[in-house]
This record gives sequence, C-alpha cells and structure tokens, in this order.
Amino acid sequence: MPKKARPLGILEAVKKFGWPEPGSEIKSVELLVGEPCNARCLFCCAGASGAGAWRPFAELEAELARARRRGAWLVTLSGGEATLSPDLFRLAARARALGFKSVQVLTNGLKFASPAFARRAAAAGIDEVKVSLHGVDAATHDRLTGVPGSFDKAMLAFANLNAAGIKASANFAVTRLNYRQMPLYARLVAGRLGLTGLCFMFSFYEGDMLPNSSRLSVRYGEVLPYLRLALEYIRRAGIKIESRMISNFTPCLAPEYENIMIDWGARGAARSGHVFKDGKRRRAAEFYAPRKAQLPACAGCAYADACYGVDRSYVSAYGGGEFAAVPRRRRRFPLKPLYP
Ligand code: SF4
Repeated sequence: MPKKARPLGILEAVKKFGWPEPGSEIKSVELLVGEPCNARCLFCCAGASGAGAWRPFAELEAELARARRRGAWLVTLSGGEATLSPDLFRLAARARALGFKSVQVLTNGLKFASPAFARRAAAAGIDEVKVSLHGVDAATHDRLTGVPGSFDKAMLAFANLNAAGIKASANFAVTRLNYRQMPLYARLVAGRLGLTGLCFMFSFYEGDMLPNSSRLSVRYGEVLPYLRLALEYIRRAGIKIESRMISNFTPCLAPEYENIMIDWGARGAARSGHVFKDGKRRRAAEFYAPRKAQLPACAGCAYADACYGVDRSYVSAYGGGEFAAVPRRRRRFPLKPLYP
C-alpha cells in the first residue's frame, strides 16, 4: 500500500514548483503523444478503440521547442493514454530542459496505481497529473471506462501521486450514467480526497459516444441542477478554483459560471493549446470551433461576438430550445479562478 500523504493544494504547488503566480495567464500547449490506450471508455471522442501509433520523439521534441519559443510555460502530455508511451519520461525531462515550468499528464490513472511509476514520473519532472475519474463508486466508473478495477486503481493513483509529491487533480466526463453524482463527486474529490483541481466536461457527441449515445446522452437541462449543486458545494466549502473547470457548456446555460467555462469562444482561443489528431496539429480553438454553430436564437446575444455556439451533434439530437440570447454579459461571479 502507498504511504499515506496529504495532497498538494494549488498554492503549495505554486511555491514548490515555481509556477507563475496566480493571476498570471496560463500559456499552455497540449501535446498528443499518440493514440494507443488501455481503457475502453464508452464516451471516448477518439473512437480509436485503443489502437494507433506513437508519434516520433523527434517530432514531439520539435513541437515542444516551438511552443516554448512562443512563450508556453505549461505542457500537457495527452493521448490516447500518454502513460503508455515509451517516451513519456524522456519527453517530460526534455520539456524541463527547454524551460517549461509545469509538465502535466492527462491519464486514466491505471499506470499510476504503481507507486514506482509515480516516483519515476516525479523524477522525470512531471508536476501535475490529471486523472480521469468518472464516478463516485466502482460500479459507475468501471462501467464507463470498460475496465474492471479501474476505480480502485484511480484511488491508488491519487495516493501514489500524493506520496510522490506530484499535484493530482480529477476530470469527470458528464454522461447520463453519472450526471446525478456531480455534487457527490465534488464532495469526494474536493472534500474527501482533498484535491483542489477538478473539471466537469460535457461529452462531445462523436467517436465512441455515437454508438453509445442512446444510454449515455443527456440534455444540458437535466445536468445543470446537479452542476449547480456541485459548484455551490465548492463555494460554500471555500475550495479554491484553480482555473476554468467546466468544459463544453455555453454561457447562456449558466451565465453566472461563464468565467469558469472552457472552450466557449474567442476569449479562450487566443491562449488555447494545440491538439494533434489524425496526423494533423491544430490550435484547440480551430479544432473545436467547426464542431459548434450559433443558432437563430443567438441573435442579439451579448456573447455572440465570442461564443462558438452549440455542439452541432447535440442540436441534431435535442434541438436548440435550451439556448437563448443573453441580454448583458455578467460582471460578478460566485466563483473566481486563481488563473483567470
Ligand atoms: S451565442 Fe448562442 S450559444 Fe452562445 S451564449 Fe449566446 S445564445 Fe448561448
């Protein structure tokens, strides 16, 4: 069993790793190191069923160097499942040598169930790991990942990351199977596990999500009451919001939380990272924008000059009746991210 250790909070991590002070702009790049994966998530937008190849190290290294020259200080290594890459630790060390202040990994957490793997990651310079955790119990999480035992391994991963001195955080993909758990999830992750980083991501309707959509798809209108309860728990508990933490929502759905929404428009585009998929590298904004479109109801919306609109597949499934122009942009918000 891993030695019990307290998780690093965001402000402790800033001090320990020398990240730019809260209030600074996050200048990041996302590096997709390849497509292989050892989970079978029902909602996977890659839809590659774990197949595919790793990108050559030289190509990734060149991309890192370019991003660094443009001022990126944070790199996120993702996949597929980045922890399976034979070059993961070499890439992390290279990023450090190039001057990246933070090297983060997006993962399903399976490999981090090994304490030795977590220690090797820390030694290579990885300072934050975002573990996908899609439920508050094994029945829900394991069903969504398609891997029996993956919930228990994710819990071990958090303990091992804490023991290795790596900051841990959690990502939750919102589907019909788990959306009612969102308030309990906030309590588990921010309360019981003590993590300051978590993100709620509304699933895109593509990849493996399409054949599974009859059991996974859910309306925004069903999700929003649970999202609000989760965020209200975070507010009342005084938990620090590190950066924007709800993804693939639009401001009109919950204008009071527009300041913590990711990927909704031009404001985020200026500092968005990059995505490598199907052999092509694109800015994240270019990648997401074509999937979305404004609706007739968007006319006159105070966010219309910045908002990409709504996921087209969502509109095909549910129509656009939940979206309505917002007369004025919000100035005051109940939650404020440390990195705006
Ligand atoms: S532009 Fe459209 S989708 Fe975006 S916030 Fe306004 S009404 Fe909603």
